Amino acid sequence: MNPSAFTTPGSGQLILALSKGRIFDDTLPLLRAAGIEVLENPETSRKLILATNDPDVRVIIVRASDVPTYVQYGAADFGVAGKDVLLEHGGEGLYQPIDLNIARCRMSVAVNAGFDYETAVRQGARLRVATKFVQTAREHFARKGVHVDLIKLYGSMELAPLVGLSDAIVDVVSTGSTLRANNLVEVEQIMEISSRLVVNQAALKLKRARLQPILAAFERASQLQA
Ligand code: AMP
Repeated sequence: MNPSAFTTPGSGQLILALSKGRIFDDTLPLLRAAGIEVLENPETSRKLILATNDPDVRVIIVRASDVPTYVQYGAADFGVAGKDVLLEHGGEGLYQPIDLNIARCRMSVAVNAGFDYETAVRQGARLRVATKFVQTAREHFARKGVHVDLIKLYGSMELAPLVGLSDAIVDVVSTGSTLRANNLVEVEQIMEISSRLVVNQAALKLKRARLQPILAAFERASQLQA
C-alpha cells in the first residue's frame, strides 16, 4: 500500500503517535523542548486525539504496539516506540533517526525461582517460552541453539510459569519488582531497550520543513538524558 495514502492533507499539519503511560510522560519534556505543550491529559480524558498549543500539531493516543503501524501508513507523521515494539513490527516504511533514551528497560528471560534454567539449557531440553515478543525471543534462542516452543501472549507474561503454561518468559524488565513479586528470577538479559523516534518516510520528505525543527529539538533534549 502507498504509505502516504492516509497522510493528512495540508503539509503543515503534523500528527504524533504516542502510547499512554511511560512513553507519553517521558515524551512531554521533549515536546516542551520543541515549544509544544499537550493541552489534555490522556489519563483523565477519553479523547484519542489531543490538541496542543500549536494548532498544526496533534497527538494521537494508541496502543504501544500499534504506534509503528500508524506511522508506517502515514496516519501519523511521527511517533515514539520502544525498541522491543519496533523489532516485532520489523520497521518497514519507518525512518528511525533518533534514540530518545527514554522508557529505558531491558528484555530478559525469567523463570520460576526453583527452575534450573542453566542445566535445562545445557542438557538440551526443549523449553516452553511464553512471550509477547515472539520475533525477538525466536532470534535469541536460535542464536543460542536452544530449542523452544514459543507461546504468544498479549499480557501478564509473568503468570505463565506460575500456572505451568511455560517454563520461561521473555519480557521487558525495569526495576525487577514485578518479577520478584511473582517469585520469578531473571536468568538472562537479551538486550537493552529504549524508545526511539520513528518518522513516516513520505512525511519526512513532504513535511520536512515542519518536522525538522521538532526532530532537532528532540535530539538535543534526548542527548541531555543520555
Ligand atoms: P518492573 O516491575 O519495574 O520491572 O516493570 C515490569 C513491568 O512493567 C513489566 O510487566 C513490563 O511489561 C512493564 N514495563 C516496564 N518498563 C517498561 C517499558 N519501558 N516499556 C514497556 N513496558 C515496561
